[in-house]
Amino acid sequence: MIENIIELENVSLTLPSDAGPVNILRGIDLAVARGEAAGLVGPSGSGKSTLLMVLAGLERPSGGRISAAGEDLTGLGEDALARFRRDHIGIVFQSFHLVPTMTALENVAIPLEFAGRADAFERAEAELSRVGLSHRLSHYPGQLSGGEQQRVALARAVAGNPEVLLADEPTGNLDQSTGSEIIELMFELHAQKGTTLVLITHDEALAARCDRVIRLKDGRISSIEAGVPA
Ligand code: ADP
Ligand code: MG
Repeated sequence: MIENIIELENVSLTLPSDAGPVNILRGIDLAVARGEAAGLVGPSGSGKSTLLMVLAGLERPSGGRISAAGEDLTGLGEDALARFRRDHIGIVFQSFHLVPTMTALENVAIPLEFAGRADAFERAEAELSRVGLSHRLSHYPGQLSGGEQQRVALARAVAGNPEVLLADEPTGNLDQSTGSEIIELMFELHAQKGTTLVLITHDEALAARCDRVIRLKDGRISSIEAGVPA
């Protein structure tokens, strides 16, 4: 039996706007197996980023049920959701989201320290080495290239060994070859650590490298196909 690490049941999200309520997610049913790589594709505005925020416990659905890593997120309060994210989820965004006043090492280590890890700095250094940045530990984000900043963000996202890595167009701000390096690193981590990967991308070839390709359209899943993983 395949264990699902994420299960969504009839998840909907409606948000207010000037033009009235917007139905951003409309009845999403989705199960992601532990250790799977799932590619999430769809036109701009189809709800991909919103779905990722819901998966991360950063956005509460208006209806339906969501469970992840064995926890029913629907009933959790803010503190419990924050703990859930800290313990189970890593996220990488298109725009890196590093803290500009912290060095690369601190960006990775401080969240680990908050999570109570005594070896936060050793662990951060090891993760930064893994992504090829052992020579950039004391650099600030502003002193790093885009690709290097995304490596720091990736090291930070996986340093706590999350079961699920969520990535929202992680190469959207990078040139092609730098972007490919980040993608290779992500698939490597997915393979080495068995991390479940949910990857939003516009790149069909990249999505096809995942075990499954999930297509979103107007807030609904329009199809799910098998990918062609390497
Ligand atoms: P995608 O990532 O697929 O481009 P998004 O999830 O960002 O799509 O957005 C889906 C739809 O929801 C878009 O029409 C967007 O304008 C709308 N939307 C996103 N966030 C909000 C918000 N906070 N309030 C109102 N509408 C939103
Ligand atoms: Mg988006």
